[in-house]
Amino acid sequence: MKVRDKTAKRRFGSAERDMIALGIAIASVILFVGTGGSLMPKIVRSWMGLGGAPDLALTNAVLLNIALLIFGWRRYNELHREVAERRRAEEKARELAEIDPLTGCLNRRSGSPAIEHLHEKATKSHREVAVFMIDLDNFKQINDLNGHQMGDRVLAAISRRIRDLLPAEGLIARIGGDEFVCALPYESTRRERIEDFAAQIIKAVSAPIEANKMIVESTVSVGIATTAEANIAQSASLADTLIHRADIAMYHAKKNGRNRFFWFETQMEDELRFRNELESGIRRGIPAGEFVPFYEQQIDLETGELVGFEMLARWNSPRYGLISPEVFIPIAEDIDLISELSECLIRQALRDAREWDPRLTLSVNISPLQLRDPWFAQKLLHLLLESGFPANRLEIEITESCLHENIGAVRSIVSSLKNQGIRVSLDDFGTGYSSLYQLRSLPFDRLKIDRSFVAEITREGGDSGLVEAMVSLGKGLALPVTAEGIESPEVLNALKGMGKLKGQGYLYGQPENADATRMRLAELKMLANEEAKPATSSKKPTSQRKAG
Ligand code: C2E
Ligand code: MG
Ligand code: MG
Repeated sequence: MKVRDKTAKRRFGSAERDMIALGIAIASVILFVGTGGSLMPKIVRSWMGLGGAPDLALTNAVLLNIALLIFGWRRYNELHREVAERRRAEEKARELAEIDPLTGCLNRRSGSPAIEHLHEKATKSHREVAVFMIDLDNFKQINDLNGHQMGDRVLAAISRRIRDLLPAEGLIARIGGDEFVCALPYESTRRERIEDFAAQIIKAVSAPIEANKMIVESTVSVGIATTAEANIAQSASLADTLIHRADIAMYHAKKNGRNRFFWFETQMEDELRFRNELESGIRRGIPAGEFVPFYEQQIDLETGELVGFEMLARWNSPRYGLISPEVFIPIAEDIDLISELSECLIRQALRDAREWDPRLTLSVNISPLQLRDPWFAQKLLHLLLESGFPANRLEIEITESCLHENIGAVRSIVSSLKNQGIRVSLDDFGTGYSSLYQLRSLPFDRLKIDRSFVAEITREGGDSGLVEAMVSLGKGLALPVTAEGIESPEVLNALKGMGKLKGQGYLYGQPENADATRMRLAELKMLANEEAKPATSSKKPTSQRKAG
């Protein structure tokens, strides 16, 4: 309070002084004009010896007047400087409050008011405003692999590229770590201009960025929302609604493969709401035990024997019923819960599998994200020790898409799994782009041919050449092969002719929960405490029992 008083006093003091200085200056000018005008020539003539000296008092008064004028002029200059300095300080403060120091873009706080302002201007000229939400696709990876300094450089470079594309009236704000918002006015009949702009951003960003003698590549996903959309006028804050909608559309672009743009559509909002419900459902469902393992039979195609099971996760959601892993695994990956979820499923599966015939194996799928965890092999070992399940009966399935990730990290995890006696197979083979070099250099134990190729075998116009080629590749690399997705006896027969394979598919039954699996094994006398008997194909009749 005291400080504020002091400042106020200081300000008042200087204002008072300024008023006095102004008064003195005006008075001196009036005096100078009044007396100096007639007296100055006399004084000058007297100094030159051309006339008599004017009245001394008047001369002194004029000289004093001149001194006052000089004083007033100096004060004026000082004031001018002070005002300029204050303006600079205010400008700096505004900049700090409104501008992102790293990229020079507007910041989160100033972005929305700037969009509102742009909209006001656009409305006057009967134009619409388009808002673009731009999010980097791999920023976390750039930061993790190259450090935050490199991350900062990438952000600065990308913002520069986008700014270069912006028309004069457009604006750009950085509203999050790697999120930018652009806004620009456009004629409602020229929607294609907006698409062009989005496409240009995507292209410009994708060019390699060179910094610190390194080259980094990045892509962006873009969402677009405009004031031309329905219901937009009713929203409380137009800018915030536009940003929110563009964000939803951007999220859609991410979900649909990234490095692309999407226009906002109203049903996207419902999808997002559903997705949020699923996210919170997963968070609640893990500790509540809603995620359960199902088991799909794996058969030796030559002998027809049941040789093991693949564990396939299911979510028994109280709200939506049984949900497929294809729905919840990607979400669990996005919200960083995949390791927790996977551990809880594997723990249950190992407990279930302990009751099975010791000749049966258990395969489990793992997410590429788990391969980034340097402790993954240790965690798995811990689960094995905890359950007492032998490592050599466990098989880990890694999808082919994992091989695009850091191949060195994949190799070291695969090697440490193998050192523990765990087998590793390459799942969905044929759907990714693994090179022969990768196949040879990674110590896999098995290839699993993706079901899309297997289904081709007997489809009309389809052909079995690809599957045959994959089987021979497996032979060449000395890797046993499993064919997935066997749905019909015709496919089974075709596969049998190709050599010694394992297989799985709905022909043998749908995946079943732990109880149904135990019952199936009891019928086949293949439970751990049963007397070991040769296993036979379990194709009928229990295979028709509905899972769950
Ligand atoms: P996947 O590992 O390739 O598993 C095979 C999928 O094909 C399973 O789908 C299975 O039900 C289905 N399938 C099996 N036989 C047939 C058939 O004859 N015809 C057809 N049309 N489909 C068949 P599901 O259970 O929906 O699992 C889908 C994918 O989800 C799995 O593909 C696997 O990649 C992933 N997944 C499942 N459980 C887990 C898990 O615990 N962790 C992780 N990370 N991923 C999992
Ligand atoms: Mg699998
Ligand atoms: Mg598969």
